[in-house]
Amino acid sequence: MEKKIKVGILGATGSVGQKFIELLKNHPWFEIAELGASERSAGKKYKDAANWIMKSPLNKDISELEVKKCIPNYESKLIFSGLDSSVAEQIETDFANAGYFVISNSRNHRFDKDVPLMIPEVNAEHLSLIDKQPYKGGIVTNPNCSTIGMVLALKPLHDAFKIKKINVVTMQALSGGGYPGVPSMDIIDNVVPFIGGEEEKMETEPLKILGKLGNSEVIFENDIKISAQCNRVAVIDGHLETVQVEFENKPTKEEIIDAWNNFKGVPQELQLPFAPIKPIHYFAEDNLPQPKLQRDLENGMAGSVGRLREDPLFHYKFIVLSHNTVRGAAGGTILNAELLKAKGYLDKIN
Ligand code: NAP
Repeated sequence: MEKKIKVGILGATGSVGQKFIELLKNHPWFEIAELGASERSAGKKYKDAANWIMKSPLNKDISELEVKKCIPNYESKLIFSGLDSSVAEQIETDFANAGYFVISNSRNHRFDKDVPLMIPEVNAEHLSLIDKQPYKGGIVTNPNCSTIGMVLALKPLHDAFKIKKINVVTMQALSGGGYPGVPSMDIIDNVVPFIGGEEEKMETEPLKILGKLGNSEVIFENDIKISAQCNRVAVIDGHLETVQVEFENKPTKEEIIDAWNNFKGVPQELQLPFAPIKPIHYFAEDNLPQPKLQRDLENGMAGSVGRLREDPLFHYKFIVLSHNTVRGAAGGTILNAELLKAKGYLDKIN
């Protein structure tokens, strides 16, 4: 059996960090070797440093691991980062400079011109930007969690019918704000109509993700105009989004459904372990998809769409749902790492 690649997790005590630990249990290619967090947690056993909030029990071996500081003295050369964005930039740069491959969930490096902002089904070809990076190792970033769900649903439509305008309104889950997140007094019996920085991310990140690869950077897809409004709602996991779209060539409803149903990307062709069989599932029922019912589809790695109908302002409107800490964070990062491995980028560290 092939030796597994050792993985270090930065921000291991947080919401995304815990999801990494849950998802990597029994992964065929990767095994957790090291966990890092802030000075507050460093030196403690993981079980004493983290308030474990995942549904599955914490594995005994992991619970006994000593939490490390986030400095590049790890044995594991593959690093998954769920660091708070206030500290991620420098720490991730330090690791990449020291020869580590960092896959990050934080916003800090997403717009560096030589850093791929990756959804493997959408822009796997952007991975080759790594070759342009000045680091001994490399950095790959995962997009914002709401952006991932929306772009997964829009990619096959953009390829076939060319999107011109998007209006999106999100209803985002609490786990998206980290742990402990929004105070209960603020969210029970309430909707919070503001998530700092989120609307700007949704209006800009798709333009890089859907862009074409140039010689040394991505040429942004600036022909699409996006307007986003983001809200926090009292759901634990799963971001729901209402999307209105206008196309250059207006398709029929059936053509849109066909595009979703036939959508496949590189992860499906390569049969990567975390790749959903269908990245997008279309529901014809009037009341689907719903966070509680569809967020765990294909282990949380598939997005769902539904309520497709003609729109009096744009061409069409529909609903998108995706699991924010799985597809939108830890699971998406693992899929990115699988693509890196499949494309040979991890050969030199294994
Ligand atoms: P979180 O629950 O607040 O966790 C933050 C992590 O960062 C903790 O492990 C914390 O360690 C660590 N940390 C804080 N200050 C540090 C420091 N000075 N040095 C080293 N480590 C430090 O946040 P999260 O929701 O997991 O999000 C993590 C990142 O992923 C953020 O950048 C977020 O924007 C992004 N993201 C989150 C989601 C989501 O659905 N939650 C989705 C996509 C992207 P301690 O416990 O020791 O403080």
